[in-house]
Order: sequence, then C-alpha cells, then structure tokens
Amino acid sequence: MKDARRMIARVVELHGQRAWLAADDHFTEAIVKGKLKYADKGVSPVAVGDYVEYTMKTEKLAAIESITKRESVISKPIVEKEDHLQIMVSNVDRLVIVTSTREPAFKPGLVDRFLVIAVKQEIKPVVVLNKIDLEDSSSLACYFKVWKSISCDTVFTSALTGEGVDDLAQLMKVGTSVITGHSGVGKSSLLNRISPELGLRTDRISASSGRGVHTTSRVSLFRLFADGWVADTPGLKVFGLAGVDRKSLHVYFPEFADISSGCQFNDCLHVDEPRCAVRKSVESGDGEIAEFRYKSYLRIFNSLRE
Ligand code: GDP
Ligand code: ZN
Repeated sequence: MKDARRMIARVVELHGQRAWLAADDHFTEAIVKGKLKYADKGVSPVAVGDYVEYTMKTEKLAAIESITKRESVISKPIVEKEDHLQIMVSNVDRLVIVTSTREPAFKPGLVDRFLVIAVKQEIKPVVVLNKIDLEDSSSLACYFKVWKSISCDTVFTSALTGEGVDDLAQLMKVGTSVITGHSGVGKSSLLNRISPELGLRTDRISASSGRGVHTTSRVSLFRLFADGWVADTPGLKVFGLAGVDRKSLHVYFPEFADISSGCQFNDCLHVDEPRCAVRKSVESGDGEIAEFRYKSYLRIFNSLRE
C-alpha cells in the first residue's frame, strides 16, 4: 500500500549524499535512503532534475524514497572512471546555448559541439546570440540561418538593453532548460533579466547550503516560471560527448542524412573516403551543408576516440 505521507519534489542541488528538494512552496534538505545510495558503485544515484518521492524524517529533514523514471538527461564523464557516466541534469526539455557577438568572441564550433548532445538526447536546442548591443549582428546571421534550418530555435538578445529577452523568456516558459555557453557570454545576466526575482531565490538556496551559487562547481536548478525550470551549468568541461564515437558522430549532424545516401560507401564517415557525397556537397557550395558545420564535424571527429 502506498504511504500517504509520501510527497513529490524535485532535486535542485546535490551536496554529497544530501539533496536539496523544491516542493511546491518550500525547499527542504533530504538524505538519500540507503537502498538507493550505492546503486551504481558509489556514483550518486540521485541527479539534479529528478522528481523524487520523499517522506519527512524529522521536522526539517526529508528522506528520498524513490526516483521517478527519468526523461532525457545530460551526462558528464567521470574523470577517474572511463566509460562511466554521471547524470548532470535529468528531465531536460531544452538546451539553451548562449553565444555573444564579442567579449568573448563568437565561437560557432562550440555551438555545434553542444548540438551533438542536444540531437543525441533529443533535447530541443535554442541558440542565443547575446550582446547584440556591442556589435552589428548581421555578419553572424548566416550561422543562425543554418542552425535554424536544422531545427534550432534562435534568438538575438541584449541583456543590457533587454532587446529580445522577452522572446527568450517565452521559449523558456514551460519545461526544463539547461543553459550553457562560454563564461562571460551573459548567461546570468539574461536569467536575471528574465526573472529579477531569481537572484533572491538563488540567495535562498545558497544561504541554506552555506555557499555562494556563483562560486559553486555544481549544477543548480531554479524555478524561472511556475512551470519553467532552468539549470545553470558550472562549466564547459563537465560536458562530455557521452556515448558518441567517430562512427556515430555523423548521425548527430541531421543535414548529412539525406545527402550521405549518395556516398559510395554505406559506412562512409565523410572524412577521406573517395566519392563522398557529403564532402562533395560542401566543396560545391550548393548550400545543403554549410562549410562551418562540416569543419565542426571534422574537428569533433578528430577529438573522439576511434
Ligand atoms: P556568464 O558568465 O555567461 O553568466 O556572463 P555574465 O552574465 O556574468 O556576464 C558577463 C559580463 O558581460 C558582465 O560584465 C555583464 O554585465 C556583461 N553582459 C552580459 N550581457 C550583456 C549584453 O547583452 N551586452 C553587454 N554590453 N554586456 C553584457
Ligand atoms: Zn560520405
């Protein structure tokens, strides 16, 4: 029989074996129950983003009883354990990849790397160009046209003037977004512009955990809207291309799919094989595959193990 005192909350932060849960109208600290604890060789079985069933052990401390089945996840490799993945955020609907016109310089290759993860995990990608107040964005529009053609949402913003921020907010209104991009592109500024209240809420979480949110190397999940969550990822290094190898990489470049049926070899990897239709398309400049996308493909390909 189901325990009537069991309630559902969402894991918003993890500190070792302690989790912070967001219930409907309050936060509570929780321990992970013994039987869940060592499910996977000491790797924490509970992930930020999980919906969990909990009971109250004491007035202030909850115990996580079970984890609800996860939808799409973003994982990171565990450095000391090759081929071992840890879930960084679970139940993710959207990957918001933020770039800036400059300061730091615009880097399309990094976007393409994130897009591999988004396509693989079937997470909707949104590519943001921030700091449009600093420079005329028209010279970069061509990149966004290409990303749009492969099903990315694209938004141009300025966290300084507020331009485009409402459009971004609309996209993030419902569901769980993971926001990522180089340090300094304006991720925090955009989030604070969307929800000035967020500063208060992050303060509240960090007050309870005793650490500043911005110095943390952990992932934190915030409620941006009533039904809209956002996870701020601490750094780019934690993102691995989980489960992608040289042979499968091309699958995550959706615009290669149709054209590759014209390659001479069925298992063409579009690198140096003869009569490769993908390479031919890029070289001909027929507009089917953008040169920068192919360059990103090669760069990522070379960074992967065989
Ligand atoms: P994060 O590391 O991605 O979270 O970036 P921050 O939000 O901390 O922003 C880094 C710096 O860029 C700060 O000095 C911001 O004030 C500035 N910044 C953020 N967005 C904009 C923008 O749209 N225009 C301009 N001019 N500066 C911005
Ligand atoms: Zn090919």
